[in-house]
Amino acid sequence: MGKLTIDSLDLKGKKVLVRCDFNVPLNDDTTIRDDKRIFDAIPTLKKVLSEGGKLILMSHFGRPKGKVVPEMSLKPVAERLKDLLGKNVILAPDCIGKEVENIVSAMSDGDVVLLENLRFHPEETDGNDNFARKLATLGDIYINDAFGVCHRAHASVSIIAKYLKNIASGYLLGKEIEYIGGAMRDPQKPLAAILAGIKIDGKIDVINKFIEIADKIFIAGGIANTMLKAQGFEIGNSIFEEDKIDTAKEILLKAEKNNTKIFLPVDMLCGKEFKNDTETMYVDTEKQQPGWIAMGVGPKTVEQYKTELADCKTLLWNGPMSVFEFENFAKETFEIAKIVADYTQNNGLISIIGGGDTAAAVKQAGFAEKFSHVSTGGGAALEYMEGKHLPGIESITEKGFEMKRKFLIAGNWKMNKNVHESIEFAQELTKSIVNDDNVDIMIAPTYTSLYPVYETIKKSHIELGSQDIFWEKSGAFTGKISADMLKSAGVKYTIIGHSERRQYFGETDATVNKRTKVALEAGFVPVVCVGEILEEREKGVEKEVVKRQVVEALKDIQLNDFLHFVIAYEPVWAIGTGKTASPEQAQEMHAYIRSIIKNIYNEELAQATRILYGGSLNPKNAQELLSQIDIDGGLIGGAALKVDDFSTIAKIAQGIK
Ligand code: PEP
Repeated sequence: MGKLTIDSLDLKGKKVLVRCDFNVPLNDDTTIRDDKRIFDAIPTLKKVLSEGGKLILMSHFGRPKGKVVPEMSLKPVAERLKDLLGKNVILAPDCIGKEVENIVSAMSDGDVVLLENLRFHPEETDGNDNFARKLATLGDIYINDAFGVCHRAHASVSIIAKYLKNIASGYLLGKEIEYIGGAMRDPQKPLAAILAGIKIDGKIDVINKFIEIADKIFIAGGIANTMLKAQGFEIGNSIFEEDKIDTAKEILLKAEKNNTKIFLPVDMLCGKEFKNDTETMYVDTEKQQPGWIAMGVGPKTVEQYKTELADCKTLLWNGPMSVFEFENFAKETFEIAKIVADYTQNNGLISIIGGGDTAAAVKQAGFAEKFSHVSTGGGAALEYMEGKHLPGIESITEKGFEMKRKFLIAGNWKMNKNVHESIEFAQELTKSIVNDDNVDIMIAPTYTSLYPVYETIKKSHIELGSQDIFWEKSGAFTGKISADMLKSAGVKYTIIGHSERRQYFGETDATVNKRTKVALEAGFVPVVCVGEILEEREKGVEKEVVKRQVVEALKDIQLNDFLHFVIAYEPVWAIGTGKTASPEQAQEMHAYIRSIIKNIYNEELAQATRILYGGSLNPKNAQELLSQIDIDGGLIGGAALKVDDFSTIAKIAQGIK
């Protein structure tokens, strides 16, 4: 899988326009108080310079409301950039116009120009087309690395992408898409969310979204108080929203219907007054007293988080659990930060922190480096977590930027290995395969070995797949295995329509469709196999065949937020024969399959869908095949039966970034 991020563009000699978020806080004497945003942008900027590009930087700064406000000049940023890049940075007097064009055309490779504050022009926040076009004429390539403003359809954030052919995300934005986008699209389950805040309104969309996709939601702060009040609890003088009691009841009801567990605090840290130095007490939630204010969760709640988060694989955290800005009320928020940091380091938890306050809290707690990802966006992170389409991301994904799809290396063991051999093999594999966030691993043993293998791999990051699934739920179907049975054996993926099943067991496009539907309904990730036989390729009808198989497999399956499936392109003539499709043949077909998915659904789903190659994939040919831009992993038969071969292929995938 190749990626059209900054890494895959040829930057040499090109004028590279990079949209950054240099909106740093200043001291009264206009020196920079915190340069984190500039510092974080450096890897992307250095990449452009080291490749010999001409670096043209764009940013907003403060809210000058469309007028030139000298105090909001990017001058201090230019000075800081000089230090951090170790080279001269020319601050242009404006961001568009003749003078700027002259400065840019005089640039040599490796030069850096910082355009003056974009928001000196009202057209920036208006999303004005003409202004965006003028900015675009300054560059050959556009890189967006300003996640913090990606929820705004501003000229330099989204509109500009219309006017340049080569566009991509920078490293900072790429990481946000990978973590937040990945967790919202295809989370490793169980998925948990910690959500806290004063007002329900500000968080209602994100709560509703997580009720749909998460397994557990932990709620604290004013929102929890309103929910407790809605349930008839005494909450003393704690902040709550009288007019949101009904909304709170609806949320609780919706969660119950969706089988999403909501955890409200079981005990509270209460204060007599809303200030740091005040009388405090810990009290069980149901024993709160009139006159007291809940200002954080208590130790029993911390313990509950510890227990309930232990089995979670993904966590999104937005909102601190106490008024941590008051020193005397910070302890529990910091303790929860420590638990999450520990699980991230030792339990394989993917932890994502979104929102300015939470980021500040975990930083103050001293654990910021220990989480998988601390988002650089506040409002943007929240909207991204609400499942909204962010204009700044949309514009680059729509125009050729390929969302970062995780590799999937899947082993189909076919009718090989008895229970004992399977356990032994799985044990070896857990030792041999290295955990990597960019590569998912799945093994699909025979039915009898599913549960014993699950028991063997459950603490590793290897996932379990089945080789088939039956579409009926239960009943008189001797010899068949239902979705529920597979689920209870620990299965996450299910292979559907393998060519051997099509060849020997009467599998048709229609039965593939039935199995795909039932697999999706049960929450599995179907791995739908398609591929032409030799005769069809020789006749030149391979695309027709594959199109029919994909279209029929997905027939009547509606687009929704949970639609996650994998396609495995397996040219039948290459399976178990030692013959492989050439990388070019495979890439062509994979790109074609992606276009079919786009036509059935949309570009976003097409870009998010993993398409595996299968057919005599082995350690020798894996590098070349997996490096193809539309190949997102492999479905492997023969080589999956050898620990070394399978691990080597996984390692090769890990090496392709
Ligand atoms: C398969 O079984 O899906 C497969 C691709 O087998 P092999 O790798 O042995 O060709």
